[in-house]
Amino acid sequence: MCGVVGVFGVQRAERLVAEMLFAIQHRGQESCGIASRNSRGNISSHKAMGLVKNVLIDDVLDRNSGDVSIGHVRYPTAGSSDIANSQPHAIDLAEGPHMAICSNGDIINYGEIRSWLEREAGFTFKSENDAELIGRLIAYHHVVKHDSIEDAILKTQQELKGAFSTLVILRDQLFAFRDPHGIRPLVMGNLDFDGTGLPQSEGTVFASEGCAFGIIGAKWVREVQPGEILRLQRGQPVQTVHLNPLQMRHCVFELIYFSRPDSETFGERVYEVRQRIGACLAKKDDDLVVDDDLVVLPVPDSSNFVALGYAAAKGARFTMGLLRNHYVGRTFIKPNQKSRDEGVRQKFNPLPGFFPGKRVVLIDDSIVRGTSLRKIVRMLKTAGAREVHVRIGSPRVIGSCYYGIDTPTKSELIANRMTIPESADYLNADSLKYMEIEDFNGVLASRPDFCFACFDLDYIYPPENYGIKTNVPTERE
Ligand code: SF4
Repeated sequence: MCGVVGVFGVQRAERLVAEMLFAIQHRGQESCGIASRNSRGNISSHKAMGLVKNVLIDDVLDRNSGDVSIGHVRYPTAGSSDIANSQPHAIDLAEGPHMAICSNGDIINYGEIRSWLEREAGFTFKSENDAELIGRLIAYHHVVKHDSIEDAILKTQQELKGAFSTLVILRDQLFAFRDPHGIRPLVMGNLDFDGTGLPQSEGTVFASEGCAFGIIGAKWVREVQPGEILRLQRGQPVQTVHLNPLQMRHCVFELIYFSRPDSETFGERVYEVRQRIGACLAKKDDDLVVDDDLVVLPVPDSSNFVALGYAAAKGARFTMGLLRNHYVGRTFIKPNQKSRDEGVRQKFNPLPGFFPGKRVVLIDDSIVRGTSLRKIVRMLKTAGAREVHVRIGSPRVIGSCYYGIDTPTKSELIANRMTIPESADYLNADSLKYMEIEDFNGVLASRPDFCFACFDLDYIYPPENYGIKTNVPTERE
């Protein structure tokens, strides 16, 4: 997963970009970067491994100052975790490096398009990253085939298969566009929008999540629509140059886990969706009797609102029984199992003296491998919990994601290796229940608009059609 932000037509736009990147740091902690266009028309960029506060320091921002700026936080999905694959990318056009690009999402026909560009245009790639591919495909249509920049982006949007929420600085313009299925979010805000009409390009901002706007005092305007290409240029209103949505396939995992609760994503308030998930889990849980010894606690932070919703619907006591060290980061977005294991031990600690004799309903957003949750259940039982009942705010994860979330191969997923009772045994839980896919009919305003492929294998772009081995296991249930 990654996050993008952009600012158009504001003095020292790079400062706002850095602030917004800090607000969406949860979307990627491996590397970050910024690219800005200054008043002389030069694009400069800087990217490095590490967190926003450590990378985008004053000196770096001063050297990459401009009135149009984009930025990116990354955790690796496709391509290794190194500086070459970090974003934004500066792309050479005929007259110099006048394009910078960053994107969120994975392109499933990456290999096919890259080979074609290497063969057809003789392009040399500097990374294995999707955003560079998008930029070079735009450059191919615009520079080699002499299409207008709008047509070049349109052809690129139509030729790519997969997820992309993308920002491009091209000469004095900024373009924002999304894949036609709207798999990853991208929202638009404005620093000076008076509500009387279309926002002017100057003062317009973009971010993967609306939670980035509050920190710079921007107002939420709307989503960039699936299949939409927006153009911003000086003295002009923000203009839609193309809009061609296909069947929506918003990533439901954004609402379950990834987005911050204070964001509004895909037309849903994230915290409200999570509360409804919790209420739904509680309604299916009649066999757990509420008494003084029953406590509901989340695996913080992504499960907090699910646990609140569960406790409220059940009339049970909610407690923050697990304390989280916020300096560790999100274990799911660590790049390997060793760093994830270390992260769990460093990250959580149970409240001392609280658990002896308690029956615990432990709420988590999802189970991927199960290794982290197993350690947490053991931690609670060691702390004295009499019973631990695990409730999961998503269906069983049975498939990998090819659209920008780093789920492991299918054979590593606990739901493909064990039945639910076997999983409960493995976790040392006294019971284990999940949300079902059909439960989301009552949770989401429009369930058919969402991708559930890692839960039901109904991929909009079936990976086997693109030469991707899916490591299909024997289904256990
Ligand atoms: S496969 Fe899962 S994680 Fe990937 S886009 Fe679909 S719902 Fe989201």
